[in-house]
Amino acid sequence: MQNTPDNMRFLCDEMLKGLARWLRAAGYDTEVCESGIPDRTVLEHAMNDGRILITRDHKLMEFRDAGDTVIWLDCNDTESCAAALSKAVHINWLLNPFSRCLQCNALLIEADAEKITRVPGESRKLANPLMYCPACDKVYWEGNHVDRMRGKLRTWAGN
Ligand SMILES: [Zn+2]
Repeated sequence: MQNTPDNMRFLCDEMLKGLARWLRAAGYDTEVCESGIPDRTVLEHAMNDGRILITRDHKLMEFRDAGDTVIWLDCNDTESCAAALSKAVHINWLLNPFSRCLQCNALLIEADAEKITRVPGESRKLANPLMYCPACDKVYWEGNHVDRMRGKLRTWAGN
């Protein structure tokens, strides 16, 4: 299948964990490499799984078949990494915001009544539905933190 902006999937190296959270926040399927895995294995996993590997590690670019699979970023903080990635490939930062767990990448589902009882009373009254990660057993709600993240995603999308 041809990659289009909306169905790109990513694999971030460990140094880019912060960026991976933001790609998940935008709605992209994004894994993070565990540390200590040989470069060759990481690259093969990306290829076999149809993921674009995002790395700050030069060594990964030395593999002959890295070409279409690897994006190398020259950046430090999350902000500059997001900007560098947006330059390398079209990222839709408003693809499907907060549809994935920021911790583990699983798709969120709508929280049922039992999950809803776990969150503070005032958060239950919010307009947006509360979401739940079945993998982490975590309930997400649209508090100030999510509002701030949405603001940043909008800013990045506008650039
Ligand atoms: Zn999770």
